[in-house]
Amino acid sequence: MLAKQGWRFIQNPNSLVCRLFKAIYFPTTSFWNAEIGLSPSYAWRSILHGRDVLCSGIRRHVGDGCTTNIWTDPWLQGENLSQYYRPHVQLVSDLFHHQGYWNLDLLRELFPIDVVNKIRALPLSLNSYADRWIWGADKHGLFTVKFAYHVARSLTLNEDSDGPNPSASLWNGIWTAQVPSKVKICAWKACANILPTRSRLSERGIDIDTHCPLCEEEVESPLHALRDCSVASEALSIAQFAPLSVVTQQSSVHEWLLSQVSHLSKRSFSALLMLIWAIWRNRNSMVWDALSKPAVEFVPLTLGWWEEFRIVHATPTKLPRSHSQKWKKPGLGFIKLNVDASFHQASGTAGLGGVFRDSNGSFLGGFF
Ligand SMILES: [Zn+2]
Repeated sequence: MLAKQGWRFIQNPNSLVCRLFKAIYFPTTSFWNAEIGLSPSYAWRSILHGRDVLCSGIRRHVGDGCTTNIWTDPWLQGENLSQYYRPHVQLVSDLFHHQGYWNLDLLRELFPIDVVNKIRALPLSLNSYADRWIWGADKHGLFTVKFAYHVARSLTLNEDSDGPNPSASLWNGIWTAQVPSKVKICAWKACANILPTRSRLSERGIDIDTHCPLCEEEVESPLHALRDCSVASEALSIAQFAPLSVVTQQSSVHEWLLSQVSHLSKRSFSALLMLIWAIWRNRNSMVWDALSKPAVEFVPLTLGWWEEFRIVHATPTKLPRSHSQKWKKPGLGFIKLNVDASFHQASGTAGLGGVFRDSNGSFLGGFF
């Protein structure tokens, strides 16, 4: 049900409810990037929880291709196209020869043959209509709570409706981590291989020295910047994450975090995402402002800030409802006095009242 409200947000962004939530919680950004905020209502907190389910179940249905980003929108089921990023094409419509026909030469230039074949298999219309969101888990593209439940359950079971998909546990781990949204987005970009490290910039055709700006020894790949560089590995070992000898066989951040999400607790995985974000931030401070901090300084600062974040955003625990005792009559020959009092702080006034009742429960007298 919560995912359904999120579905309404992207389907009917101009509805009164959506505009109201947008004005309060995400006036300057999109629903996808909206953060929970400092004092979220129960409804907003719940909608954001549903967004994670939604993220895993929706995709873009390509019409004219003019509002679907090739690299960041989910439009080709089961494929993460960001790994093939090229800056000269952005929209799916850039991949058309003309409406209804793929530019095969361009597709072959950008993607491996199995991805090209998958794209060619997408039905295109000669009549241009706008791209739209569809609920990918349902064959008709319609959102149903039943399918949302199915997706949510699949995520929990670490498999999706098309069969085992180990990446689902990683995306689920990232989007449900107890960390700020900007930390989740940083982790997602690292896994999608689109963090602008020097090696990635060079691959995009930018003429740049690819050596790491911190250690100046290795090529600055995302994995080097976030795990293997001396500052990064020091930060990870201070926070007592797995020593590098155990994890060096991975060749990308995606593979590394996939191995971590399966054996770390949710809390530890969240802490790891915080560190990755801090390592990236520290690296940028060095590159842009020459202001980097040593790991022994920024690790405790980051983890301390994260603790505060978790306390502020903790789901309030429901207090057990106190069982109100039913009034009982006093024993024969006894009189029962019930009293209550209150104090009004603003006016400084107080009140007291009481009721006397006999063993039949009859009112004998009272005061206030
Ligand atoms: Zn380095």
